[in-house]
Order: sequence, then C-alpha cells, then structure tokens
Amino acid sequence: MAQRVACVTGASRGIGRETALALARDGMKIVVASNERENNEKVAEEVRALGGEAVTQYLDLSQAETIKEAFAAILKECGRVDALVNNAGITKDALSMRMKPEDWNLVLQINLTGAFLCAQQALPGMMRERWGRIVNIASVVGQMGNIGQANYVASKAGLIGLTKTLALELASRNITVNAVAPGFIETDMTKALPEEIKQKMLARIPLQRMGQPADVAAAVRFLVSDAAGYMTGQVLGVNGGMYM
Ligand code: NAP
Repeated sequence: MAQRVACVTGASRGIGRETALALARDGMKIVVASNERENNEKVAEEVRALGGEAVTQYLDLSQAETIKEAFAAILKECGRVDALVNNAGITKDALSMRMKPEDWNLVLQINLTGAFLCAQQALPGMMRERWGRIVNIASVVGQMGNIGQANYVASKAGLIGLTKTLALELASRNITVNAVAPGFIETDMTKALPEEIKQKMLARIPLQRMGQPADVAAAVRFLVSDAAGYMTGQVLGVNGGMYM
C-alpha cells in the first residue's frame, strides 16, 4: 500500500503542529500547510527529525482563489491526499453590536469557507481511492455559543453542519468526515486572553486545567486512523468536561 498523505492546514504552530507530528508518528507523509513559510519549514524539519516525511505548502485561506492552486501543487508533489485536517483558524472578537463586517467576513472566510474549499479539492482523489478522512477542527464554543465571538462561533457551528453533510454525502465512498471540538487549549490563540478571562474559563472546566495541543492531536490521530473507520459525522469534544 502506498504511504498515506495527510494535509494539515494551520500546521505551522499550536494544535496543527502537534497534529502534524502525531500523524507523522503514525507513518503518514505530512503536508504542512499555512500562510507562514518559515514556520511551515520548521515544523517539516521537526517531522523529519522524528524520521517522518514532510513537505510544505504555502496556503492562505483568506484568498479563496489560491486554494485550488495550492492543492494542485500538493497533488503534483505528493500524488494524493488521503487525510485532510481543516485546522487553520483565526479569531477577531468583538461584541456583536460593534463587530465590523470585514471581521465577520474574514473569520467566516478562513474558518468555514476555507475548510469547505480545501475539502472540495481533496475529495476527488479520496473518492477515487475509496478511502479518505476529513477532520474539521471546530470548537466547544460552536456548540455552546460565546459572548464576543459571533463570527467565530458561527464559523465553528457552520463547520459542524458541514461535517455532518459531507459525512452523509461521502459515506458511500468510504470517506469519513468528523469534527473535533476543542475546549480551552494552551496555544498562541489563548495566550493573548486577559488573566481574568482565563480564570473565569478555568472555573468552568471540570478537569481544572487548560488542554494541551497534544490532547487535541490525539483525538485527530484516532479519527484519521483505521480504528475509527466506523465513525462518521461525529463531533468529538476535547474540552475537559466543559461541555457534555
Ligand atoms: P494558533 O496557534 O493561532 O494557530 C493557527 C494556525 O492557523 C496557524 O498555523 C496559522 O498560520 C493558521 N492560519 C491563520 N490564518 C490562516 C490563513 N489565512 N491561511 C492559512 N492558515 C492560516 O491556533 P490554535 O489554537 O492552534 O488553533 C487551531 C484550531 O483549533 C483553530 O481552528 C482554532 O479555532 C481551533 N480551536 C482552538 C482552541 C484553543 O483554545 N486554542 C479552542 C477551540 C478550537 P500562521 O502561523 O501562518 O499564522
């Protein structure tokens, strides 16, 4: 069997980086894709240091028209994409009353439309192979709502709907589509939060700690594996019990 290829978007840091390393440990060739060339290369080096194989791809999800080209380059270099992890995401927080339309649009564009367009590009090959895995990184706030994050929450709730629809559309081709919904994870995204907000969030987590990127990567690794072949259309919470 040919070596499986996993494309992880937003793999230059945080959860995406850890996911890339976890999938490499399972023997997959990794496409490290984000809009940060230097960090992509650093993560690819980390994969190689583990004895794995990695290539990098510049991918800017805010530029919808370039996504097709990026996947054409990936397919040219790797020949296939067996697993797609739609992990890249941003926040642009503000209360709804004050949220700028451009911040609404950008978050939806990167977090939701970007994921959809990547899936569209990866699907033809998976359909041909009659095997594929798509894992969308949603968020616990897409399940619960969150003050000040109307754009982000809408994008993550949208990803959950997209996950279920793709799962229905692709099941007959043996392609599974699932979402992982992380809670409060220690990355650059949460580093910027004020201490007071962090303490309030922690008070809502039964396991009484923030999650680590590796906690999320473990869930993705499982969903991508053959062991998860009978799971599709699911939302796997990795949230310390914050939402049940
Ligand atoms: P992070 O550390 O901020 O990393 C975000 C990643 O997305 C980076 O690799 C970044 O690339 C990439 N990215 C941003 N804009 C992009 C664009 N226009 N095109 C392509 N790539 C882009 O975030 P994280 O905490 O690891 O989060 C990863 C995912 O988990 C996100 O979808 C996030 O919403 C979700 N999540 C996170 C948490 C949490 O608590 N951290 C909780 C729930 C869900 P650059 O390096 O180029 O900027």
